[in-house]
Amino acid sequence: MQPLARALTVLVVEDHAPLREQIALLLRSAGHRVDEASDGRLALASALQTPPDVLVLDLGLPGLSGLALCRQLREQAAQPIPVLMLTARDTLPDKLEGFAAGADDYLTKPFASEELLVRVLALSRRAGAGLDFRLHIGSLALDRRSREAWRHGQRLVLP
Ligand code: CA
Repeated sequence: MQPLARALTVLVVEDHAPLREQIALLLRSAGHRVDEASDGRLALASALQTPPDVLVLDLGLPGLSGLALCRQLREQAAQPIPVLMLTARDTLPDKLEGFAAGADDYLTKPFASEELLVRVLALSRRAGAGLDFRLHIGSLALDRRSREAWRHGQRLVLP
């Protein structure tokens, strides 16, 4: 089932220009407004000044890492900004580290265009509803409110 599309403002933070342009083009062709940034520090300033509906965030960035940006955004932003973290890493500890820093969802490179669009929309809806704290990534489930995680339905012990 395809969710009804709505126009969003998305800040894409990625220092690899070809990928950033590809993501921006993809989002724009789906009708969204896109701002682009390649430096972590500038991206944080931009997101705090003009909060986007969704932040698409690369992990490895000059200026400020994606994880540090995410943490500072959580501390400083007046309103919650949904963060979709992009990364080449795909191991469980990396994902948990991302979520601990405040990411709302996670996408491993390379990813399908369709999946990026669907996740960005889902994040914006979740933020709008402000209710759903439970995230699912494959076999992994995470409750952002209680800070509990499950894999294949089995509770994980987190440090
Ligand atoms: Ca990068």
